[in-house]
Amino acid sequence: MSLPQKITTKEQVDALLDQYDNFLFDCDGVLWLGDHLLPHVVETLAFLKSKGKKLIFVTNNSTKSRENYLKKFEKFGVKGITKSDIFGSAYATAVYLDKVMKFDHTKKVWVLGGQGVHDELTELGIQSIGGTDPELDKPFSDDSKFLKLDPEVGAVIAGLDTSINYHRLSITLQYLLDPNVIFMATNIDSTFPSHGKILPGAGSIIESAIYSSGRQPTVCGKPNMNLLKAIQAEHNLNLERSIMVGDRLNTDMKFGKDGGLGTLLVLTGIETEANVLKQDGTPKYYADKLGDLYELQK
Ligand code: PLP
Ligand code: CA
Repeated sequence: MSLPQKITTKEQVDALLDQYDNFLFDCDGVLWLGDHLLPHVVETLAFLKSKGKKLIFVTNNSTKSRENYLKKFEKFGVKGITKSDIFGSAYATAVYLDKVMKFDHTKKVWVLGGQGVHDELTELGIQSIGGTDPELDKPFSDDSKFLKLDPEVGAVIAGLDTSINYHRLSITLQYLLDPNVIFMATNIDSTFPSHGKILPGAGSIIESAIYSSGRQPTVCGKPNMNLLKAIQAEHNLNLERSIMVGDRLNTDMKFGKDGGLGTLLVLTGIETEANVLKQDGTPKYYADKLGDLYELQK
């Protein structure tokens, strides 16, 4: 059994820097928790940049666009990040629909999800409806006029929808009952951490659409390799010299392992040390927090 190795010394950090040129970071639980920046994250990112490392940010949070993420990095004082360094599941899903599925731009996308999905679709010139539209907040009524359907919808994208209700789920099902309508999901995280609580994630909501329709979506978030393909199309990284840093075993660490990257888990998010020590081989490394890579240098 190969136990994950805990990073606790400067020598171990140096060895990590020798082994990897590209650092892929999960965001929530690694860099910040919601709106709270984690200790010494800005210094660690600047330190890695000063060593010539490439930094890429990979988040499953589909409620925000890459533009929103850029603003978040700016707000936290993280310098030198560009939009092409950020891969959100909303962006990855929109690009996949457009480039891989060759989505017909005369059609529309029905969104069971947040603004991030609409924003990324708009940027690619794809029209979308649904999402947070207040019309959909009206309580369900058993009336055929109630389920207003748009015949131009050619795809459903589901993600975390904090406005979820029976109305939105019913319309989603009507579209999915047409086998010609494409079904995609941004990510299927069961939960996510928020303000010290664990909340139901996109996967918990999407499951309802899967169950009622009997269909399976194409998923673009971690651990799906579609996301790695999107990153590689832009950056062409040497994956053996790349490491995925994350806080969750079944998304971040699986993504790193399946993609042939190194894996480093930090204990500032979802997983406990006891959980990590039950693993064999993945993650390869773990640390109490990302900021340790900087603190251990001093
Ligand atoms: N989905 C939602 C809606 C979230 O708010 C978050 C974290 O805030 C996540 C997923 C997980 O994001 P990440 O992949 O950055 O941990
Ligand atoms: Ca995370």
